[in-house]
Amino acid sequence: MQPFLTASWKQTFRRRLKSWYARQARDLPWRRTHDPYRIWVSEIMLQQTQVKTVIPYYERFCKAFPTLRDLAEASEAEVLQLWEGLGYYRRGRQLHAAAIQVQADLGGVLPNSRKELQRLPGIGRYTAAAILSFAFDQAEPILEANTIRLLARLAALRSDVSTSHSQKTLWSLSENLIPRKHTGQFNQALMDLGSLVCTPKSPSCEVCPVADLCLARQKNLTADIPVMRSRQTLEKIREALVVICRKQRFLIRQCGPNERWSGLWDFPRMRLDQKKPSAVAAQIVDGVRDLTGYTVAPGNRIKTLTHGVTRYHITLECYAATIASSRRKQGDRTPHRWVRAGDLSGVPLSVTGRKIARHLAAHPGLET
Ligand code: SF4
Repeated sequence: MQPFLTASWKQTFRRRLKSWYARQARDLPWRRTHDPYRIWVSEIMLQQTQVKTVIPYYERFCKAFPTLRDLAEASEAEVLQLWEGLGYYRRGRQLHAAAIQVQADLGGVLPNSRKELQRLPGIGRYTAAAILSFAFDQAEPILEANTIRLLARLAALRSDVSTSHSQKTLWSLSENLIPRKHTGQFNQALMDLGSLVCTPKSPSCEVCPVADLCLARQKNLTADIPVMRSRQTLEKIREALVVICRKQRFLIRQCGPNERWSGLWDFPRMRLDQKKPSAVAAQIVDGVRDLTGYTVAPGNRIKTLTHGVTRYHITLECYAATIASSRRKQGDRTPHRWVRAGDLSGVPLSVTGRKIARHLAAHPGLET
């Protein structure tokens, strides 16, 4: 084995990676373009989301907003509707806000410098480097989940990869490895090798093109690296979602800026900590009144869903309800609308909100 990170080690590494990538590169839609706008969209969507999930969203998004200007001129509701189901909606809102800013302040042209890119909402060091290397072929190193794992193993890094010291080491390693030319392709090859060969569990070292350059393999440490902080256990909670119907229309409200799905629309939803049916009903009445001002009469449970959001495992109990009093309590509340089941498809909803909307469309008997 050649000594780690010497000039000859780097030369061999780059040559092997290039030849492996020429045979094994993934054909991804955002790799067929050098348009910085489209690369930016793909990178934002790929944050914390798998490639196969992102592909259809990316294609729909680029069809609806083929240019940065189209995105800047769209409404937030249109953007969120196309983001629906992808999760982490803050990404979509920030992408939209950044497009408006670029259109207004920079003549609609995405900057080609790291400093300027990182001034835009939602663009951190990795995203800026990805745009610069993939779109402009600038010699910018990258570091994301796949490259963190790959580089940590190559260097047999035994410290927690999330610490600032390890991050500094890995960024510096990535910087040390990049070639001066064709950096975008090199970075994509690093990501593909991490994703396809140097996988989190049971890396395929036997077919890895750089196996004889890898310190973790040499030291028999591939199963122990990367070292990661243990994940938090999910907290179990219960919530109620309330389907309130009046004159064949359902009540939805727009989530406020500090809520989980800020900007999206949702059925009234609240935390439940009571178990007795009468206490649950009372919590629902109070919760709906606080959110919307309406006083309701809760009815039967129509469905129970389970889902995970950040550190919570949520059991979502969905109840039918009717309006109990025509008087509405006044107060400062988020906007609300009464919508027919068939029209909910045109409103951006949370994933569980959408499941309930589909349930309502399929069960017209729930309308009162
Ligand atoms: S030899 Fe194994 S652990 Fe090392 S880079 Fe290749 S796949 Fe990853």
